[in-house]
Amino acid sequence: MKIYIRFQNLDNPISLSQNDQTFASRLLVEDVPWDGEIKVCTLKNAKYRREELKEKIKRKLLRNQGEYCIYCGLHFEISPNPEIDHIALKSRFKEQSFEPENLVLACQTCNGRSRKGKRHIVIDPNAGFVKENYKIIHPYWDDMFDHIEFSVNDSDLLLSVKDSSEKGDFNIKVFKLMDTGPVILRGGLIMRMEKGLGLAKEKLIERIVLNPPSPII
Ligand SMILES: [Zn+2]
Repeated sequence: MKIYIRFQNLDNPISLSQNDQTFASRLLVEDVPWDGEIKVCTLKNAKYRREELKEKIKRKLLRNQGEYCIYCGLHFEISPNPEIDHIALKSRFKEQSFEPENLVLACQTCNGRSRKGKRHIVIDPNAGFVKENYKIIHPYWDDMFDHIEFSVNDSDLLLSVKDSSEKGDFNIKVFKLMDTGPVILRGGLIMRMEKGLGLAKEKLIERIVLNPPSPII
């Protein structure tokens, strides 16, 4: 029986080999985007190698964060088709396309148009890539437990904004974490895990919410 939900901070980004970093920088110099057609490029087998690099990045991200969407916390078996998400949009911040601290895995729903999609999450594009410049809880640079509070009622894991955090509010709204659908889905999964794992709810919640700042009652 699996743990089907996991909310987590990411301690470290993935690392790319020197060769991969060089190739990625060359792609940027040649103005070859992350996806789409490659028309003119002096790099040999650029398209094939680019796809290969993206697959490698995806595998590394899976190892780094486990099979859980970084935003809604659901296991990819429940919310499938994980995609590489560029935290700061790749269309606008091309230079960050292959930057490990800009890459996470998200489920198709969270990465899709109804959630994060093409939303601008960088406050001031000229102010640099520092956590204060993000509207979203940054998976690598922020501690999500500074922004969101977790609690349990009869069957669900509830999320609420902590200390009027704008980032907490943004994440809960953009990813619809407290909409009826996700609440019911999480409730069902928690009941299933409780039975399957034979864990008391409190113990289970401790495993769902990693590194909580204080014990969850
Ligand atoms: Zn998700």
